[in-house]
Amino acid sequence: MKQTGLIIVLSGFSGAGKGTIMKHLLQNHPGEFNLSISATTRKKRQGEVDGRDYFFKTREEFDSMIENGDLLEYATFNNNSYGTPKSYVEKLVNEGKDVLLEIEIQGALQVKKIFPEAVLLFVMPPSADALKERLVGRGTETEDVVAERLAISNKEAEFMPQYDYLIVNDILENAVEQVYSIISSEHSRTARNVENIEKIKQDLKKFERS
Ligand code: ADP
Ligand code: 5GP
Repeated sequence: MKQTGLIIVLSGFSGAGKGTIMKHLLQNHPGEFNLSISATTRKKRQGEVDGRDYFFKTREEFDSMIENGDLLEYATFNNNSYGTPKSYVEKLVNEGKDVLLEIEIQGALQVKKIFPEAVLLFVMPPSADALKERLVGRGTETEDVVAERLAISNKEAEFMPQYDYLIVNDILENAVEQVYSIISSEHSRTARNVENIEKIKQDLKKFERS
């Protein structure tokens, strides 16, 4: 059966578990998905690898990517810039493959404008306290940055209704499989299967009786 590639956007509060869900989704279903790697001006965290976690850019490099039209979308998050390289997403879409974008809300809404058929998923923690615990527990941010990111979450919550699906990341593996089953269901939508419908219609004509 012919498949149409999906653009799947995953957003959510900092520390909600987006990165962890993505990692497990790719591990549990090897070869099924392609994850877009973003460009950012943020400083590399310990353990992060350039070209795997992000393309780490200077402000000048990032600005020239914008000027050259290299970014599908970009946004500022807590004083740093983040953007999705356009060519990778376009290539996969043209090849009919699924692409996953893990990006914040302003960027997600830009993507939905460009590709209205994109599927928008929002990841939330079971509670506000759990979010703080996870962000502190990750140990990658200073106390100030944790406080800033929690304050941003408070504002971001306003945008949740604009997403297609809500994922509560309580038990990690449940959240991962929920994301997987949403993607599977989206593939089954009749609107994404016009060619398959036409094909079986043509095929069934052989049983036509005059
Ligand atoms: P995000 O990418 O949304 O900022 P991360 O994926 O980095 O969040 O997760 C933040 C922290 O929470 C990490 O330390 C991660 O191991 C932990 N975490 C993620 N999902 C869960 C979960 N379901 N239960 C408990 N801890 C989790
Ligand atoms: P972090 O600094 O924790 O890696 O990411 C901060 C925020 O930036 C997260 O909400 C993450 O989803 C978002 N982000 C990462 N890459 C992109 C991108 O390419 N575009 C946009 N708009 N947001 C991004």
